[in-house]
This record gives sequence, structure tokens and C-alpha cells, in this order.
Amino acid sequence: MPPGPSQDEIRRQNLGALLRHVHVHGATSRAELTTALGLNRSTIGALTADLAGAGLVSEGAPKETGRAGRPSPVVRPESTRIHAYAYSIEVDRLRAARVGLGGVVLDRRELDRPRGLLVAEAAPLLAGAVKEMQQRVPADAVCVGTGVAVCGMVRRDDGLVRLAPTTGWVDEPVAAALGAELGVDVPITVGNVADVAAFAEHARGVAAGCDNVVYLYGDVGVGAGIIAGGRRVTGHGGYGGEVGHMKVVRDGERCECGSRGCWETQIGEYGLLRNAGRSDAQGREALLAVFDAADRGDARAGAAVRQAGDWLGFGVANLVNLFNPEMVIFGGTMRDLYLAAAAQIRSRLNANALPACVEHVRLRTPKLGDDAALVGAAELAFERLLADPLDIG
Ligand SMILES: [Zn+2]
Repeated sequence: MPPGPSQDEIRRQNLGALLRHVHVHGATSRAELTTALGLNRSTIGALTADLAGAGLVSEGAPKETGRAGRPSPVVRPESTRIHAYAYSIEVDRLRAARVGLGGVVLDRRELDRPRGLLVAEAAPLLAGAVKEMQQRVPADAVCVGTGVAVCGMVRRDDGLVRLAPTTGWVDEPVAAALGAELGVDVPITVGNVADVAAFAEHARGVAAGCDNVVYLYGDVGVGAGIIAGGRRVTGHGGYGGEVGHMKVVRDGERCECGSRGCWETQIGEYGLLRNAGRSDAQGREALLAVFDAADRGDARAGAAVRQAGDWLGFGVANLVNLFNPEMVIFGGTMRDLYLAAAAQIRSRLNANALPACVEHVRLRTPKLGDDAALVGAAELAFERLLADPLDIG
């Protein structure tokens, strides 16, 4: 029989569990930690002292509760000291943020991104944004890692961006390019933007407590982050969730991926603008202008939005049948489309999905909004710390 975990291994696991709890839930009293982690008071006290000694948490008086008696001290994550850098590489913008332990966005930068910008051109822009933020970081702050969200297919093993159809990137070593620009030896983890946004909404957003979730994220194309049984589903190589390329029309419109009839040719930016008779326009503003025109009674814009909403409900019905989620979240441009055609999407979904699969599905917009990609990218970076909190050197 293999030996059980050693005392040291158990301690490290418990340190990780306690730190993860305050990272996700914020300030928590020792009494609540005792209940949540199933450990006794003296163990919680010892673990807290270890984490405080490492500068990862602090203990203090709770906020005034008005209740009588001596309150249990609360444990807080050291959010301004322990941080990660997060990047979000989107079709039309580049974003960088410093995110504190506990998921707090402490500082941020945003840059417009011309379509067609190469990795070699994007990396110095992102690194420059981070270098600017670094000048304002407290002297005793510790960066535990860097996470990157990319609108593309990301190889899990090494973060290689295999294909980002809407930006034209093929086999791009994004992590290496950023590492070379930053010139620092911190680990860089890369993930797909829909996957990391789903991760963030599941950890601390609208899907907290939901173990089966489909997060649909639209930029120019459409992808999904899928949580099944409480775990992220990313497939064998990391490329799962490419729902925008589900084939829905045989020999249909040509898609950026090279195929035809993909779902995103109907619900993505190009499809919606084409159907609204605005193929010469592009970008989020152009899409919002179509929704606005539809709202004001423009017949062609209204028909394009209804058509896209119909296709959105149709595709979501397939996803609901496949994954039986308790929640479907609409993020990015899918949020705009959902808000413009919610009743129609729900009605198409109910008509097309299997009754048993659809009966408890809640349709929601993200709680973290546009920050989900940044907060989720930071979560990728925090994972290593949470797995072994005393190994942050
Ligand atoms: Zn496609």
C-alpha cells in the first residue's frame, strides 16, 4: 500500500485551501474558516499564522457588526501586496491589468488594436503597459505570475496560439514573445478568453456555486467556456469549446476558419453586419449601431437582429442538449445580442432543446462584465500560488 500523505503535505494542502477560500470569498472570520474547511480552531490559527508570516494574508478586527460579544478576527488576502499581471488580447483592443490576490483589479491599461497586428508588434505594447504600472507598485509587492487571455485556440501544454482566425494568428508563441519583452522570470500562463472568462464567473461571478455552466463569449467570432461538474472542460489539447465553428448550415457562408456554414457566420460580427447591409463597417461600435438602429425601428437592422437572435437560440439549444447546464452566460458581443433579443432567444431555446435538459436553465449576463477576461487571466496566474502558498519565491 502506498504511504499516505505526510504531515508536511497535509499542511501544504490545508494552507492552499485556506488561502483559496479567502482569495475567492474575501475577508473571512476564523470561526467561518473552521466550518468551511472542516478543521479545528487551533489548526486554523496555526495555518493563518503561517500564511501571515509569508505575507499572503493579514488578520484584523472585523467590520462593526453591532452584535454583543468578542468577534472572531477576520483573515484577509493581502490584495495590494500579492498580485499578478493579466493581459487580454482581443480583436480590437489590448488590455493589461495588475490584479491583487482576491481578484481585485488594482490598475489597468487599455490600447486600441488595429486588426492584423502581429504578435511581435503586440508584445512590446503590452509589456510597455505593464512597465508603466510597475512604476506605481509598492516596494514590498510580490508578483506571483502572469496570465494571458487570447481570442484564439491555445495549446494547453505551452500556451502556443495555434489559430486565432479573426486576427490571422497561426502558431504564435505569445508567452515567449511577452517573456522576452518583459525580461523577467515569472511564469506566463496563456488561455482562451472564453475559457478564462468562464473560470472567473464561476469563481467569483454570476455562476458562483453553479457546477454546470456554458459561457458564450463573442468578440468578432464566438467561443465558449464550459464548466461541467465544477471543472473546466477544455479538451485533450486545450482547444475545446470552439462552438462558433459548429457547422449549422451545409455549404453556408464562408467562415474566417476556412470552413463554411459555421454558427458564428450567423451570430458573429460579420454575419450580423452583413445581414444589416453594413458589410463595410466593423467593430463593436458598428454592432452597437445596428442594435441601436433596430431599437429605433430601422426595418433592416431589426430583421438582422431577429435573425441573429433566432440563430443564437437555435445554437444554445444544441449546447443545452449536450451539456445540460444550469446556467448559460452571454458575454462580450453575445451580451449585446442577448439583451437585444432575449425573449426570442428564450423562445427558440425552449422550442428546440429537450425539455429535460432545458427545464432549469437560467440565462444570464456576466457579473464581472468586461473584467471577466482580465480577472480570469489573473486566476490562471494565481493557481500556482494557491496550489502551494509557501513556494512563491
Ligand atoms: Zn468557422
